[in-house]
Formats: sequence, structure tokens, C-alpha cells
Amino acid sequence: MVELTPPHDVLDQVIAPHLPADPVLRSMMEQSYRILADHPINKSRRERGLKPANCCWFWGAGTKPALPSFYEKTGKKGMMISAVDLLKGIAVGSGMGVAMVEGANGGLHTNYAGKTEAALTALLEDHYDFAYIHVEAPDEMGHQGSLERKITAIEYLDERVITPLVERMDQSGQQYRLLIMPDHPTPIRLRTHTAEPVPFLFYDSNVILAERREYNEYDATESGNFIAQGHQIIDILLMRP
Ligand SMILES: [Zn+2]
Repeated sequence: MVELTPPHDVLDQVIAPHLPADPVLRSMMEQSYRILADHPINKSRRERGLKPANCCWFWGAGTKPALPSFYEKTGKKGMMISAVDLLKGIAVGSGMGVAMVEGANGGLHTNYAGKTEAALTALLEDHYDFAYIHVEAPDEMGHQGSLERKITAIEYLDERVITPLVERMDQSGQQYRLLIMPDHPTPIRLRTHTAEPVPFLFYDSNVILAERREYNEYDATESGNFIAQGHQIIDILLMRP
């Protein structure tokens, strides 16, 4: 195993101390820098005032973990909908389905509608019990340090994923549960991940709450609903009667 640094942990820093010690990886990075310097795509990007993609950066290497089967653990058939290989890998490792959505790219202009459709198809047509829609854009805009684009990402998530999903699930007449949450904060000011608690929204179509709350950090703190171990929330979603 080689030690590798996630690039978003060393933004705005000199990279030399964070390059891999492994000589093969290092040489591949150096070669990529030379090859990409005059690549036509990068020439065209520079002409258009865009930043060039000028080097490979290796990180996140690991071995396949021994994950329990999602179906055996929960009794539910699950589908993963994500552009990110880490999430797809977790799904493959636990025997979940992996949806292929064209134009899902982890960026601000990902195919939100395509992800929503993939979840609805899985749940309403293909007999899946659980669909996991992962959207990277709000995190990515946090890494970019752009308040404006982060707000846009959250607005897209609201308009193009959550609203149509809820409308169509309501129309279907099926009972359902919905959990909306980030996996961690990525504050604009820090441009990397932090470990503070995150707000979650848990909806059950069978339950009508008397109390009205908004989905944000302040209301979540006020509610007093706190789950200390994040990984237990999935059990509440899937198992609690
Ligand atoms: Zn991130």
C-alpha cells in the first residue's frame, strides 16, 4: 500500500511535500504533466480562458473491503445512483444494483433529472425497495469555494430531484420513506470536509407531523433529534416500524 494525499486537503499549498513517495506513481505524474502541457484540449481551454487539466493526481487507492450483503442485512433490494466511483464501489461490494445515468458527472451541471428518473424506475417499475441518489455537486462547489454555485447546486437538488421525486411517489399511491442528508459539511470558507453533525430530513408518507420545521442546520439543532452514530441512520430508515 502506498500513502496518497487527497488533493482537496492541500488546496493552495505547495504540492512537493504531498507527492507520492512511490517512484512509479511519481514518474507517471511527471510524464502526465509533460504530455498534458501542450495537449490540444488544454490549448483550447487556455484560449477560452479556462484552466488546463495539467497533471494526473493519484489518490484513494485501497483494497476491496469485505462488506456484508445489503440484501442479507436489510432484506431490501437496493439501487445506487451516483457518478462517483467510491459510491458505486460500495454498491458493488454490497451486492446492490448500480444505475447507469448518462450525463451524471459529479459536477454542478450533472443530469439531475436522469438520476431522479433512475430512482423512480427502480422503485416503481423494477421492484427495488431502496434507491440511493447521490449528488456530488453541493460538496464540489464547497471545494471550489463558491457560495453562489453551492446555492445553485442545492436549488437544483430541490427542484430537479426532491420535488419531482416526492410528486411522483405521492401520485403512485405507494407508502414510502425519504431520507435527505449530506454525508459531511464542506464549508465554503475551508474548502474541505469537516466532521460537524449534519442536518437530516426524515419523511414517512404515513406520518403527519403537527410541528413545522425547515430543513437547515438551525432548525435541525433546535429539534433535539440527534443521532450520534451516523451509520445507524440507515437502520432507522429501513428497519424501524
Ligand atoms: Zn468532497
